[in-house]
Amino acid sequence: KVRVRFAPSPTGPLHLGGVRTALYDYLFAKNQGGEFVLRIEDTDTARYVAGAEEYIEEALEWCGIIPDESPSKGGKFAPYRQSERRDIYDRYTEQILKTDYAYLAFDTPEDLDAIRAEFEARGEVFSYDNVTRNRLKNSIALSEEEVQKLLDEKTPYVVRFKMPVDRTLNLEDIIRGKFSVNTNTLDDKVLVKNDGMPTYHFANIIDDHEMEISHVIRGEEWLPSLGLHTLLYEAMDWDAPQFAHLSLILKPEGKGKLSKRDGDKFGFPVFPLDFKDPATGSLSQGYRENGYLPEAFINMVALLGWSPADDKEILSLDEMAKKFDLHKVHKAGARFSKEKAEWFNHQYIQMKSDEELLQILKNTDIDLSGVSDEKLLRIIQLMKERATFPKDIYENSQFFFKAPVAYDEKASKKAWNEETSAILGELAVTLSGIETFTSESLKQAVHDFAENKGLGMGKIMMPLRLSLVGELKGPDVPDILELLGKEESIARINNAIN
Ligand code: GLU
Repeated sequence: KVRVRFAPSPTGPLHLGGVRTALYDYLFAKNQGGEFVLRIEDTDTARYVAGAEEYIEEALEWCGIIPDESPSKGGKFAPYRQSERRDIYDRYTEQILKTDYAYLAFDTPEDLDAIRAEFEARGEVFSYDNVTRNRLKNSIALSEEEVQKLLDEKTPYVVRFKMPVDRTLNLEDIIRGKFSVNTNTLDDKVLVKNDGMPTYHFANIIDDHEMEISHVIRGEEWLPSLGLHTLLYEAMDWDAPQFAHLSLILKPEGKGKLSKRDGDKFGFPVFPLDFKDPATGSLSQGYRENGYLPEAFINMVALLGWSPADDKEILSLDEMAKKFDLHKVHKAGARFSKEKAEWFNHQYIQMKSDEELLQILKNTDIDLSGVSDEKLLRIIQLMKERATFPKDIYENSQFFFKAPVAYDEKASKKAWNEETSAILGELAVTLSGIETFTSESLKQAVHDFAENKGLGMGKIMMPLRLSLVGELKGPDVPDILELLGKEESIARINNAIN
């Protein structure tokens, strides 16, 4: 049975890379008819940020990436918050200490600083490993009696992993293939801290085992830990899950990892939702608040590192899940593009019904009181084609609400000559005689008017548009006339020609 987990630490808002990991976790699980689990890895109390866990759940929900099991939803392997799983970890700490893969280390921070300084003085880098462990204060270097004495004195200790000497580990990653690592390059990581809490490495493999996780999909920053994790499974005598490490999301220019600072610099958000850090009070810009539709956002995120065999670009979450193939995830880093993100949003706005867009607009901070739904729906219908964000629909259609107070100078030069006022004056008279003021009949009327006068359509449409809008922008002129209504249209024409 395929079971996949997303295991974030609640240390702040979810960035783009985190969302992509969660999305690939979810897509792979769904593709395989498996389950997707959200587990909160909060054993590092020093990095814990209040509100971050709620933020993660809300962000995933906004994206439509709904876990089958999670801290808030529960599930058969609950609890899903590591801080609540202490008794489980205690049991396994006891177990690993009975093997030859772990030992107690009593070194104080001062002890470690001293030896580090000693190494640095020689121009070397200290590492707590199979070479140095023999001269430190731990249960390998000390006699049984010395260890017992330290324990009797209640000396604080940590549990360290005993990295085997000179073993070649043959590792395998679904995306990167096979590679090997020699254990002499790895150090003796702390598994359990002196407060009895496990570190990330130990809690992570215990929970993946306990929660019957079959595939671990995570960021490439964890690739260097694969050797240790593989050995931890061996030490516990457990089958290891399969691993897939995702490449970085790169800056738009293609070099270096995309960071929050890039978002600030280039004017695009990096996080899915706004997040106010309770400690610093600083606010992170989110996609949601910037007007991205969740469907567009996750579609964009999914294609940062994967594309379906048929190269289709617009995909719903269900379609993505049907087509997703972990083996086809790209080994190279994916370059973020703001233009592409906006393109997706534009596409998804076109796919929304006018009623849906109306609801979206009503949920923004735009004040729409005093405008009828009927008028708004017409505006949406006319303006959505040009919108990247829902707000654009409203912001680009200000002329429907306010008559122009000035006319664009360049446009005036282009659209107006000495005859224009007279022609538009006559047109205004013609328009006032039209009973059914609809875009259809108005189009015909303007057409007939131009023909009678022996004038080209452009000669009339351009100044007419300028009179109504104030510049040469907007949807078709007959549509503008209809929506403004007879009275307002004629008033604007008269205003322009006087
Ligand atoms: N807690 C780790 C993180 O925040 C999880 C890494 C993993 O998926 O193993 O990235």
